[in-house]
Amino acid sequence: MAIRKGRHRIQEFALIQALARRFAKNSSHLVQGIGDDAAVIAAPAPAWWHVTTDLLAEGVHFDLRTASAESVGYRAAMANLSDIAAMGASPRYLLVSLAVPRTFGAARILELYEGLMQACGPHGVTLIGGDTSASQTGLFLSITLIGTTISGRALFRHGAHVGDCIYVTGTLGDSLAGLQLLAGNKSKRSTPRPSGPLRKSHQDYLIRRHLHPTARIGEGLWLNRAGLATAAIDLSDGLSGDLRHICDASRVGAEIDLGALPISPACSAYAETRRLRPLELALTGGEDYELLFTAPPARQTALERQARTRGFQITRIGSIRPRRFGMQMKSTDGAMRPIPMTSYEHFH
Ligand code: ADP
Ligand code: MG
Repeated sequence: MAIRKGRHRIQEFALIQALARRFAKNSSHLVQGIGDDAAVIAAPAPAWWHVTTDLLAEGVHFDLRTASAESVGYRAAMANLSDIAAMGASPRYLLVSLAVPRTFGAARILELYEGLMQACGPHGVTLIGGDTSASQTGLFLSITLIGTTISGRALFRHGAHVGDCIYVTGTLGDSLAGLQLLAGNKSKRSTPRPSGPLRKSHQDYLIRRHLHPTARIGEGLWLNRAGLATAAIDLSDGLSGDLRHICDASRVGAEIDLGALPISPACSAYAETRRLRPLELALTGGEDYELLFTAPPARQTALERQARTRGFQITRIGSIRPRRFGMQMKSTDGAMRPIPMTSYEHFH
């Protein structure tokens, strides 16, 4: 539905045509893509459809004074891809709705879509529709991503059992370190001045991990298809917060071994030059888009062997405990403490 009539409506048609020309394509089960009142998908063999959506508002979720339209699009798509990855599903179809302020021209909208499709394209995701409106305030962007798994098989948050091993993919804390580097370290808590220089390659790596994160689609598909994981979630808020979601949904507790948290050489080096504790970055940093999952101890050997052959980095970081245990972390000196909520401050 278009809110404004006249010239705006004509501009809207032209924009949609440009989007369709540039980004729409055929895909095997798509009967009708952009260009009718609804998109039509011929449901393949019995499948589960996984549908996730995100609404992003300028000034709340992104700042167009510091981020390019392309990177806003890329990161928005990646957050949705990561949700689909955490379900163990294959991403398939994308819908994008926009409310666009007058100051945001068609060229920048196309840039935004370039970012969206740069993230989605490699996974074979097809843009099948959306909606477009004018906005009196900032830019609003709503993304809906649809994925599939075979019927009866998905990775939920609620499947963890007492005794299960807790794993993460990749490394933790990189995105927060990259964000702090980009922000010139203007965090609320005044951080001490760097004690030394950080290698350019480390800086570039951390900033790339923030601006161009990678959703763990391959890892999610593998864990689901091989039936190796009992529960999974993607790390968008940070380990401590997202682990809590698994514990609440599964009605269990958890013990994390701080010494086991996977931290990249770049993140360690960054923490050292800023006199921060890398473990704090790893526990509280959000937007790493790694997967956190649980697996029965009997599967541990198979899981770790398969990960190696597939070239997936996974690290065991703890165990699922009974609910009454709560969520605790074991320091390198062996001391147990409750895992703080998400805030950085809780460590001090
Ligand atoms: P309606 O008035 O029925 O909402 P529109 O003119 O808004 O129809 O949409 C026409 C076609 O263009 C539909 O297929 C719709 O899904 C698609 N479309 C509209 N806006 C966008 C957008 N921002 N991104 C992708 N597709 C869009
Ligand atoms: Mg419409």
